[in-house]
Amino acid sequence: MNHLILFAHPNPKSFNAAILETTVTSLEGKGHRVVVRDLYKLNFDPILKGTDFEVFQSGRKPADVEVEHDHIQKADVITMIYPIWWSGMPAILKGYIDRVFSYGFAYRYNDEGVPVGLLAGKNGLIINTQGNTTDYYDSIGMTGAVKLTTDTSIFGFCGIEPVDHLFFGAVPTVDDATRQGMLKTLRERLDQLF
Ligand code: FAD
Repeated sequence: MNHLILFAHPNPKSFNAAILETTVTSLEGKGHRVVVRDLYKLNFDPILKGTDFEVFQSGRKPADVEVEHDHIQKADVITMIYPIWWSGMPAILKGYIDRVFSYGFAYRYNDEGVPVGLLAGKNGLIINTQGNTTDYYDSIGMTGAVKLTTDTSIFGFCGIEPVDHLFFGAVPTVDDATRQGMLKTLRERLDQLF
């Protein structure tokens, strides 16, 4: 399978970087083709500008968006790896979605005004870390809120089938052995999924 990973963490020594490495190693170990778009390393411009609208409306695409469209088109599975920041995704990834998951490419509205996902046939996976415990986020309804605004409102809206959404909680405060256990859980889940 062709996997596209959208990675959003600025620190190459972060636990998210360890999750990325684990994911790539696991998938490649099973013969999958993996493309990583490391948004901070790419210095991806996350700001949807007036000029973008002008380019889209003229039937063309901004050059950097076109590159990402090619990666998305080739992918069977799109995986997003990022830390939860302010109960959502880092702004650079939100901006990637704003600019790259564009009208006419990722979705459109039909004549009745109903949205139609244009990325059907692809699977989506999200891997998140958080500072809060997963129990706390479950208890206040935040886990469900995060799933609704990503699995449903981004992947589902565009026709992508969400296959799982993994949450690793209290990442900065647990001990090293617990974090190693999280990476083991991740490897096992990837093995089941793909
Ligand atoms: P890091 O801080 O990079 O690493 C955590 C620990 O793991 C470090 O000790 C590191 O050395 C260690 N580590 C690195 N590699 C490995 C490895 N291979 N094996 C074992 N250990 C390793 N949290 C919430 O719950 N809700 C929020 O709304 C929220 N908002 C935030 C907003 C901002 C702007 C920021 C900066 C943080 C916020 N947080 C929030 C916390 C954030 O989600 C966590 O700090 C983050 O998810 C932890 O992941 P990390 O990759 O950044 O961990």
